Amino acid sequence: MSTTKKSLEDFEQRLAGEELQNLAAEEQRGKWFRRRSKGILTTTSEKRETPDGLWVMCPQCKHTCSFTELHDRLHVCPNCNYHHRIGSDEYFHILFDNGSFERLFDNIFSKDFLQFTDLKPYEARLKETWAKTDLHDSMSVAHGMVNELPLVIACMDFDFIGGSLGSVMGEKICRAAHYSIQHRIPLLIISKSGGARMMESAFSLMQLPKTLGSLSLLSDAGIPYFSLCTDPTFGGTTASFSMLGDVIMGEPGALIGFAGPRVIKETIKKDLPKGFQRSEFLMEHGFLDLIVDRKQLKETLGRLLSLFAA
Ligand SMILES: [Zn+2]
Repeated sequence: MSTTKKSLEDFEQRLAGEELQNLAAEEQRGKWFRRRSKGILTTTSEKRETPDGLWVMCPQCKHTCSFTELHDRLHVCPNCNYHHRIGSDEYFHILFDNGSFERLFDNIFSKDFLQFTDLKPYEARLKETWAKTDLHDSMSVAHGMVNELPLVIACMDFDFIGGSLGSVMGEKICRAAHYSIQHRIPLLIISKSGGARMMESAFSLMQLPKTLGSLSLLSDAGIPYFSLCTDPTFGGTTASFSMLGDVIMGEPGALIGFAGPRVIKETIKKDLPKGFQRSEFLMEHGFLDLIVDRKQLKETLGRLLSLFAA
């Protein structure tokens, strides 16, 4: 119905006294339940918010502890050792000495090359994610010292479109590898990704050979490359750089694979073995070299760095 038509009808109703009749009916319903003024009248400054994230419940054992306690325990459940998902900033603070590091290549941003639209346009999705998070893309790179030895860490963020592998992540990995070659510093990639970024389609897939090319150069230069797979490491990442480290590590209980368990189960029409695609299962089948508890991560890396430096 057009606006003009609607307003004309409203006008006619008012002329016919229908609105007045409605008001009379409301009077009859009693004064107690009558809304005197419409809308929310509380000003923003007067609003009282419940503080967010004071308590955290472990999804595995349902143990509840305060956020401060969990933070002090490096986001590992004190009851069952469940490793909560954390972002690049947390990893940088856990691993680099005194939490001091220099961020690299922060000025690269994703672009909507294909004018891709799924539930919403890719450009709108990007803008929304930039506004919601402090992140520039699904990967951050930093350079710092770990137990007094230099290391470049490229770490993914699941909060940025599921840690998806897009052209920015690919470019950052390449630049990180070249930076490592130039300064002769080992590289660590911390993976946490659902797979390739579908909104970048073929551009996403091109990152696989591109990153591997740079990592080959790193290998030719004799610089160590470590990979840490955290929950979850899937799709394009497992199909490329995450599984090619000189030392491949996993966090306890992390889900690591190419396709998800549900897809595999539906394809092979068989039940999957217990613990399928978890770090421990992969370690048993030779895909991982080490399972490292987050509390021992810095120490383990420090030891690896000193061994490779020798
Ligand atoms: Zn727990």
